[in-house]
Amino acid sequence: MRCILIVGDGMADQPLRELNFKTPIEVANPQAMNRLAQQGVSGLLDPIASGVVPDSYTANLALLGYDPSVVCEGRGAFEAAGAGLHVGQDDVAFRCNFVTVDESLCLVDERAGRIGVEARILGEVVEQIQLKVHSDVEVHFKQALGFKAALVLRGEGLSSKVSVVMPKVGCPVAAIVPLDSSFEAKHTADVLNEFVRLSNQVLKCHLVNVERKFVNHRPANAVLPWGGSRKPDMLFFQEKYGLRAACIAGASLIKGIGKFSGMDVPDVQGATGEFDTDTLAKADAALAAFVGGRDFVYVHVEAADEASHDGDVAGKVAVIQKIDALVGRILDGVDLSDTVVVLAPDHGTSCLTRAHMGDAVPVCFAGVNVVSDGVTVYSERSVYKGGLKRISGKDIMPMVLNYMGK
Ligand SMILES: [Zn+2]
Repeated sequence: MRCILIVGDGMADQPLRELNFKTPIEVANPQAMNRLAQQGVSGLLDPIASGVVPDSYTANLALLGYDPSVVCEGRGAFEAAGAGLHVGQDDVAFRCNFVTVDESLCLVDERAGRIGVEARILGEVVEQIQLKVHSDVEVHFKQALGFKAALVLRGEGLSSKVSVVMPKVGCPVAAIVPLDSSFEAKHTADVLNEFVRLSNQVLKCHLVNVERKFVNHRPANAVLPWGGSRKPDMLFFQEKYGLRAACIAGASLIKGIGKFSGMDVPDVQGATGEFDTDTLAKADAALAAFVGGRDFVYVHVEAADEASHDGDVAGKVAVIQKIDALVGRILDGVDLSDTVVVLAPDHGTSCLTRAHMGDAVPVCFAGVNVVSDGVTVYSERSVYKGGLKRISGKDIMPMVLNYMGK
């Protein structure tokens, strides 16, 4: 027996006025997901606990059976490892955004107008930065996908206890502050603020940004680190469950979770973590992982969360249909007599508030050992009648192992 866990990041939502009080999943009317629901058992899933609003890293760790409060203090190390940077035992790692700032280094846009492939060229320039005031600290930077990037600091006297949040629009960006009174936290905040200022110096006059301004796109004229953490302390997935696993993802955060849990993390051509992501290529990569001898495949699609954070209702519906095509390709490619298929969002993200939600999300399990419950549609609403009732993220893996007969 083997298992595939399909996660649509932020796919669940609330009833929306512009959809006649239906949710994006209901409007997408996902045929393959409905097929899965008809063959399986459904219910409500609290990724962390009832009413708790998860971050993507805490939610995805929880779905894989890792207690986020134990394994890690933040997302930085996952982002860095997923972007391809080495994270050593004494390093501190950060997620970074290319941002738009004004002349006085105050925030204009936290995603730099959603800069796309051009960010790669800018990333190469930022990679060359060496600190001048804090020259004792090594900086390792890598652009990942679009405006997303990661940073690893290596040296003496560093701490992850520095401000972790994106400033509000209009507030200064080189204003990272220590979160405790230690020398290390103060030192790290100073190091990061120097890095932010240097990034602005090398980026503000770069040709890519000159051209962006010319066509009325926001320049990516600074890099802002956030979400700092040290290397997580995680048992390998195989040790934990005896399953040889692969992780199929575009987003660095998820690739990092895969890497630190010892999964195979292939680079899938066309997996971008954005709206244009090739979900069918991901489905094929997942099926190939089974052929390659893996018995657990974790497939993650980021784009529904991105659409929700932009408040893009039509975009979210379209992305759910693309995820549905992935589910269809998987269902056509596996045999439920030897494969358990699980589908869930890691959390809901509201197109209305543009923020993650603390609501339970729809989860569905299908497989030969699963008793189907008569639910015929996969949606936030339909699974209230599901046979699973209400489970939490940490229940997923024990249930998978049970349905696999292990
Ligand atoms: Zn998420």
